[in-house]
Amino acid sequence: MDIVLEQVEYRYAANSPFEKKAVEDVTFKIPEGQCTAIIGHTGSGKSTLLLHLNALLKPTSGTVQIGERTVKAGRKEKDLKPIREKVGIVFQFPEQQLFEETVMKDICYGPMNFGVSEQEAKKRAAFWLKEVGMPEEVLGKSPFDLSGGQMRRVAIAGVLAMEPEVLVLDEPTAGLDPRGRREMMEMFYRLHQERGITLVLVTHSMEDAARYADKVVVMHKGRKVHEAPPRELFSDTARLAEWGLGVPEVVKFQRMLEEKTGKAFPKVCLTMDE
Ligand code: ADP
Repeated sequence: MDIVLEQVEYRYAANSPFEKKAVEDVTFKIPEGQCTAIIGHTGSGKSTLLLHLNALLKPTSGTVQIGERTVKAGRKEKDLKPIREKVGIVFQFPEQQLFEETVMKDICYGPMNFGVSEQEAKKRAAFWLKEVGMPEEVLGKSPFDLSGGQMRRVAIAGVLAMEPEVLVLDEPTAGLDPRGRREMMEMFYRLHQERGITLVLVTHSMEDAARYADKVVVMHKGRKVHEAPPRELFSDTARLAEWGLGVPEVVKFQRMLEEKTGKAFPKVCLTMDE
């Protein structure tokens, strides 16, 4: 299932004195089975866009096509449940949303809310808990007895237990140490590679975008200012310099991509000499 945004605009508190345009004229496609990264500084409109991906927000103009469904302004939407089922969002610090007495109940909550039987939900809970790298014994524990990193994995298992086709991750590694960040990203990447889950990675980490994405969408002040595969993005040294990325940083990303793809970049000129 592809998601296609076309000329999406979103204004908070539209037609009120507090109106605030957060996103303007944004068009791009999130292709099925790929990993698309949306990057940009704080306030560039990433979270607002993300809320459109499963119709939690409706554009104030433009359209968002989610699989077969088109969501657009000025139309009353019927049943949005099928969209919410297909597009799972892992919000920032998802562990803050845990609330049940046991890990099992917490993971089962979403699927059962969407009509999955208790028996099936329990089966899914055991399966997805393992997939996020946690032992089965944890199922009977209170989520509040776990470490922060473990709680986050449980919350993610809760979203995965809905078995979405598209998984949207909002700064999934926020607050983790470098090792935890790497493990978490590798886990998502493995799920993506092995199970074909479409990933949308919303991040301000250029490194994660370069390492994991097939395509990077760059947001700035509510607009899309660029869209390219990481290799192309990191060949464009002039543009990267405009965004404040110096040669050493660009070279670091290029080395990383060379390692990943086995394809060399042309040499970057490291001096200002003619
Ligand atoms: P990002 O996720 O890239 O930090 P956001 O989508 O949160 O960007 O914000 C985009 C713009 O919209 C910012 O100027 C922000 O202040 C504004 N904004 C975000 N949420 C609201 C809201 N609930 N009400 C009014 N303005 C908002």
